[in-house]
Amino acid sequence: MSHHRVTSSPQRVIVIGAGMGGLASAARLAKRGHKVSIYEASGYAGGKCRTEWIDGYAFDTGPSLLTLPAVYRDLFLKTGKRLEHLLQITPVDPAFTYIFHDGARVTFPNLSHNKTVSAIRESFGSEAADSWHALMLRAEQMWEASRESFIEGELKSPLELLKRPDFISDLRTISPLKSLRKLTRSYTNNPYLQKIVDRYATYTGSDPREVPAVLLTIAFVEEAFGAWHVQGGLGKLATTLETRVRELGVDLHFDSKVKEIKVENGRAIGITLESGEEVPADIVVANADAELVYNSLLPASRKTARPRRALRKATPSLSGFSLLLGLRGKSDLNHHTVFFPENYDDEFDAIFQRKEPVPDPAIYICNPQDPHMVASSDSESWFVLINAPRHEPGSGFDWRAPGVAQDYAEHIIDLMESKGLDVRSRLDLCEIRTPADLETKTNAPGGSIYGTSSNGPRSAFLRAKNRSPIANLYCVGGSSHPGGGLPLVGISAEIVAEAVEEKLTQ
Ligand SMILES: Cc1cc2nc3c(=O)[nH]c(=O)nc-3n(C[C@H](O)[C@H](O)[C@H](O)COP(=O)(O)OP(=O)(O)OC[C@H]3O[C@@H](n4cnc5c(N)ncnc54)[C@H](O)[C@@H]3O)c2cc1C
Repeated sequence: MSHHRVTSSPQRVIVIGAGMGGLASAARLAKRGHKVSIYEASGYAGGKCRTEWIDGYAFDTGPSLLTLPAVYRDLFLKTGKRLEHLLQITPVDPAFTYIFHDGARVTFPNLSHNKTVSAIRESFGSEAADSWHALMLRAEQMWEASRESFIEGELKSPLELLKRPDFISDLRTISPLKSLRKLTRSYTNNPYLQKIVDRYATYTGSDPREVPAVLLTIAFVEEAFGAWHVQGGLGKLATTLETRVRELGVDLHFDSKVKEIKVENGRAIGITLESGEEVPADIVVANADAELVYNSLLPASRKTARPRRALRKATPSLSGFSLLLGLRGKSDLNHHTVFFPENYDDEFDAIFQRKEPVPDPAIYICNPQDPHMVASSDSESWFVLINAPRHEPGSGFDWRAPGVAQDYAEHIIDLMESKGLDVRSRLDLCEIRTPADLETKTNAPGGSIYGTSSNGPRSAFLRAKNRSPIANLYCVGGSSHPGGGLPLVGISAEIVAEAVEEKLTQ
């Protein structure tokens, strides 16, 4: 029996953007009987989530790690055939290898708190292992205290949150005014663990010294619910979802950039495409970045003054510089490896303050242990991702300035070689992707990975709400509540589908 009966009369829904949030909300709304059309600026579905084949090598050029797969299992289950019948989703074991500037290293297994604690004990001693245990207990409490109010539903105002019965104890657990950095320091003085936890701030494109402590939940979620890979590349999740959406009768229009959301008497009534074509709608769901929605797609009005102000106050999330390396022969790198620099703070100073490429960045390498991602069994495809300032010619860094991308790529390869990796002697393919490329390909302003960052205690409240102040206009995806990353984007689609239904059955 279907979970979703049509409780309201079918509506004409337009979704702007075929990113994961757009596709997921389209699937849920079409399943409920609505007539859904998606308009996507680029020529493909999935947005940032994409696997690209280049000369026999496959790269996940967006997400290369799936957490909380339950979110997508639920989506597929509720809209048709189960995900397990369509894709192979496998735990990545070990989950991560962390290597430090002085050669210290630790390898985290997957899906076992006890084994992780043992690995830390082996690498860094008992005190570090005990503090990891204590940190993860705290992270679990934070997850329990925050997920209902901050993640799984529409974000309530701070005043409404005050009315919750567990408010005081939850507040103590969450410590909303403490930064992630401060919280970690209160549990451990081990510099290696500190760096490992700091890095979770970058999962939302943020600075560990600025993000609220509650982001520690990401570490708990990864440890408790696992790090997963999709056979053939994470982009398969997007193409499988595209197929699902088509099966549900959704019309997909590619190369169809939306120029304007049409508003009449405070309600969204349709869209105008760049081509000039106008398409009427009863409901508009915007998956485009909230910055575009509020600052260019919508006509400026008093109604949207608040979200526009909030977006101005929020710090945009960081971007990424990546190298797609096709390499001859095999290495002993695991699926996910992170090389940390000695001075990790300088990475965040460079990105958020100096707005320049990080001189000695953390280097993340995804070397998929997946025969479906290379044409020859004697080769590897490495996706190398470096956190980077956004592309902001004029006010920030210009990634298109002559020579910049090539020089930085050479610098990164030098750093990799200095860490003992053989790159140049094995190199068969090297493609460079800068934040400017990310902006062009995915229509994310400045190439920002996650919309607005989580920097600052009020960041969750500055992010665009799922229900916009314009009637019949909803926002879905990484730049709206509850935030970026595949699981949250999937949750955001569920929230939007519920909000639409609630409105229609009022
Ligand atoms: C390099 C990189 C690494 C990442 N790593 C991970 C990871 O390991 N794990 C993880 O969970 N997440 C990761 N993420 C984040 C994750 O990819 C995103 O949070 C998620 O895919 C965003 O989905 P979205 O629905 O917000 O849409 P997006 O993917 O941003 O798609 C929005 C779509 O809207 C379209 N659009 C925009 N404007 C218009 C317009 N005017 N008209 C028509 N269409 C328009 C765009 O073309 C795009 O297709 C990573 C992202 C990047 C870039």
